[in-house]
Amino acid sequence: MSEDTRTPGGVALPSELIGRKRDGGSLTEDELRTLVEGYLEGRVGEGQIGAFLMAGVLRGFSRDEAIALTRIFVESGAMLEQAGLPGPTVDKHSTGGVGDGTTLLVAPTLAACGVTLVKLSGRGLGHTGGTLDKLESIPGFRVDLDGRELYRVASEVGCVVAAQTNELVPADRELYALRDVTGTVESTALIASSVMSKKLAAGSNAIVLDVKAGEGAFMASEEAAAELAELCVEIGEADGRRTVALVTAMDQPLGTGIGNALEVAECVRLLEAEPQGRLAELAAELAATGLALATETDLDAARERVRDAWSSGASRAKLREMIVAQGGDPGAVDNPAATLPQAPVQRPVPADAAGCVRRVAARGVGELAAWLGAGRARKGDPVDPAVGLDLHVAIGDEVEAGQALATVHARDDATADEGARRLGELIEVGAPTEAPPTLLRRVGSV
Ligand code: URA
Repeated sequence: MSEDTRTPGGVALPSELIGRKRDGGSLTEDELRTLVEGYLEGRVGEGQIGAFLMAGVLRGFSRDEAIALTRIFVESGAMLEQAGLPGPTVDKHSTGGVGDGTTLLVAPTLAACGVTLVKLSGRGLGHTGGTLDKLESIPGFRVDLDGRELYRVASEVGCVVAAQTNELVPADRELYALRDVTGTVESTALIASSVMSKKLAAGSNAIVLDVKAGEGAFMASEEAAAELAELCVEIGEADGRRTVALVTAMDQPLGTGIGNALEVAECVRLLEAEPQGRLAELAAELAATGLALATETDLDAARERVRDAWSSGASRAKLREMIVAQGGDPGAVDNPAATLPQAPVQRPVPADAAGCVRRVAARGVGELAAWLGAGRARKGDPVDPAVGLDLHVAIGDEVEAGQALATVHARDDATADEGARRLGELIEVGAPTEAPPTLLRRVGSV
């Protein structure tokens, strides 16, 4: 390399770095910084950073590059202040799925167990739901909190769930928007550094991840999901955060409600009994893992504490406290049917014949809920909090002919009829099959 291909600081010019990545080479942290910071500061063009991202997607990034990129993303913005919050702090992240209300169960349960959770969440996009949209179906609930309010709710209640603030990880925000339109989302390293930079900047000591695998997930195969989970855990541990990932199935929706208010109502209902069913059991396992990580206790002891908090009503009480602290109507917990918005039309979807449920297509169900109005096709579109669907069966259940497989909640009769017809096609009934497991693997150690 000749001297004149270097910047005054001694790092190669962007075009040379892009060429090296194109040819399968690796870049140092300083070199990656030249590209990413250069882009944010206008010295590196959009075409150049797009070419770099595509070269990286095609050639791959090393573990060290992923760790370096994460650090560069985190350092591009502010860190959330968590020092002084009561108890150890823990964060939880899901890579996105259908009927996945785990945050609404995990956050209050961890708070009820004495650890603090500050969770910055996203909105639904495409077929996946978003926690912020679910919470905003509660009348009055505010998700746009500034740093001081986040801190106040976290210290008073023990958990807070709010929108990402603009100050955190601007590099990821800019690069993600570019990846979205340049076909460069699909890189394990880029996804891992994007996800983990937001977790590291949010400042918790421990992180529990739920990496989804299956047709309704980002990663279709268990192997690809496990690879993403392993890299995320390595990035977290390299930064001194205790991190564990659960790889979980997303071939069928996790919960029974799909739609914003329907999912809140389901979570409130689940907190009224022992943790039972796929959604509650996974949420309890995520909470126990987070608790064990944050408090350095044995996982079985953490499971018992989680079960006690849940079954005693302490988790439910914490959810109510969090709702009140964020301006929401506590009637969402006390009397959900009278408080949460309800769709005017409900239409059952009957089984054509007796048999066993073999398939409930997660992606199709998520897309259908979005089509009914519960989700959005483009960033910024409004959502209807009341509509969606309730599943009454899961894979492995035996059904009778005519039995309701699900109920569609819609704004009008025509939409309800069409929604019920489409939903019928997404649920397959036939020869006997086993209920599949939800938890596929655990990555990292507690
Ligand atoms: N979610 C993120 O936050 N980042 C990605 O790159 C993909 C999914």
